[in-house]
Parts: sequence; structure tokens; C-alpha cells
Amino acid sequence: MQLAHRNSLVRIATQRDVTLILCYHRIAGDVEDPFHLCVHPKNFAAHLEEIARWREPSTLSDLSRPSRRPRVVVTFDDGYSDNLSVALPIAEEKGIPITIFVTSGMLGDTNGFWWDRLGALLRARPKGPGEFFVETGGRTRTIPIGARDLRADFGVVRSHLLPLAVGEIGCALDDASERWSVNSTAPPDALPLTRDELLRLAGAELVTIGAHTVDHVRLRDRSGEEQLQTITASKKELEGLLDRRVCHFAYPFGRREDFDDETLDAVRLAGFESACTTLPGSADPATDPYRLPRRLVMNWGRTRFRAQLQRWRLA
Ligand SMILES: [Zn+2]
Repeated sequence: MQLAHRNSLVRIATQRDVTLILCYHRIAGDVEDPFHLCVHPKNFAAHLEEIARWREPSTLSDLSRPSRRPRVVVTFDDGYSDNLSVALPIAEEKGIPITIFVTSGMLGDTNGFWWDRLGALLRARPKGPGEFFVETGGRTRTIPIGARDLRADFGVVRSHLLPLAVGEIGCALDDASERWSVNSTAPPDALPLTRDELLRLAGAELVTIGAHTVDHVRLRDRSGEEQLQTITASKKELEGLLDRRVCHFAYPFGRREDFDDETLDAVRLAGFESACTTLPGSADPATDPYRLPRRLVMNWGRTRFRAQLQRWRLA
């Protein structure tokens, strides 16, 4: 066999076993979206059509099985209510399976996720220069805000809050809410799933539910014991509610600096079969199932999404 021909066959065989895992958060149109978490329903429908056209729509449980075409797995992080009301009907219409990583302790929480509360606070606060205070380890850190645009303020305050314990983040938000006399609950369109909504979502044939910790803490900054506790508890809570095994996990935030070796040990010990990061790349049979790479999807139209699929395949 000629070398060039053999190499092309090897390349085809390799590409067939490549799996692109996509990471979405919310499917919503015409809403405030300071952290770029929303994909418009029209764009999401176009994405799913493109996936069905060019790839093999799959689930995380399919990764080790042979495939005729390169696979795509569609995942959602956090467990927003619009995953049921908006994303599911589109996924069902297009016949594409979706996996939703749910933050178990946030089910039915009417305040919302802390980043959405932060967005609401900074939008509603008195205009002009101001300060955001963060108390951690007995020290108060002052973050100046209002000198640049709102998006810059979101970014800088979020980066200071992200490493903190969830209780500390809540205190900082409550403090700002009181000082500015503004509401700090997330917008009604950005709330987490309720328990009832989760049950309806999990009852859909195309849906797999995964875990995402109890409170969406950044795991790296916590002790090994604390990590194991929240990872195991999220699995047990969801399994108790759904009366089925929960086999897949996604690390909150998911970047290299957001988890460590103790996190991987805890995920294995808790009994998960796989864990998704947000590290870029594609998975193949040799990929560590506890470090699955994913591609974050933005609010792209059809043409841009198709170009991204092509780019990611070649990356
Ligand atoms: Zn998340």
C-alpha cells in the first residue's frame, strides 16, 4: 500500500473516533447576557441542524463505541429553567440528544446563580464611580467600579468572587444590595430549574442528567474532603430525585485553574464514569474520561457555527 494512501486511511479512521463535546448554558433570545451564556433559540436550532447534517449526534456514554462519522455531544452546564422550556423542544424537533449538568443545590432557588445576581446588581446600582467590597479570610478587599463600561465591571468583580466560598459570595452580594438599595435577585428569565422542571426534563427520552456539584463552588480552592462532599452529595441528591444512576459530571467553570488532582480523585471515588472540563479540544478513545475537553458555544449564526465545526475538527 502506498504510504500516502495508507496515511489517508489512518486519518479517516482517527477522525471517525473523534468526539466534539459542545458546552452550552442557556437558550434564550433578547435578554441581558453580560457573561455570554445565551444562545438564541433560532441559532440553537441551526446549530443542531448543522450537527445532524455533518456529524453523528451522540451522548457521553457512546464515546467508546465505534462510529461511522465524527461525533458531537451537546451538553448544558448549570441547570437553567430554559433548558426545559426552550432547549428541549428544539432538541426534540431535531432529534438530538442533550446532556444537562445540574447544580443540585440550586434547584428551585428563586435568587438565582450568583453571577446572574451580580449582573442584576451592577445594572441596577446608582450610576457613576463606586466600590464593591469582598470579605475573605478576615480581610476586606475593595474593588473600584464605574470607571469603565458595565461589561468591564462584570468581568472584574466576577474574577474576584469566583475563587471564594459560595457563602462569602452571597455575603458580598447582600452587602452591595443593601448599600445600593437595589434588588439582587437574578432576572426571572435566568432562574435555575425547579425540582418539578428537572423531573419533566429527565423524563424526556433524549435527555441525560449529569451532576455539577451542590452549589457550583470552584473546587480547586476547597479541601479534598470538601470537594468529595459536594461532588458525592450532588450525585446522591440527583439520583434520589430521579431514581436513576447519574454517571457523568462537569467541573464548575471547568478551566485548568478550577480543579486539581484531588478533584479528579473525588470524581472517581464518587463513582462517576466521566467528567467534562472546558479545556478546548476533541475527545478520542485515548482521552482521559475524567478530563474530557469541550468547546464553548457562543451565540453564533449558522454560517459561523459551521465554520467553527470545521475549525475545531482541524484544530
Ligand atoms: Zn457551571
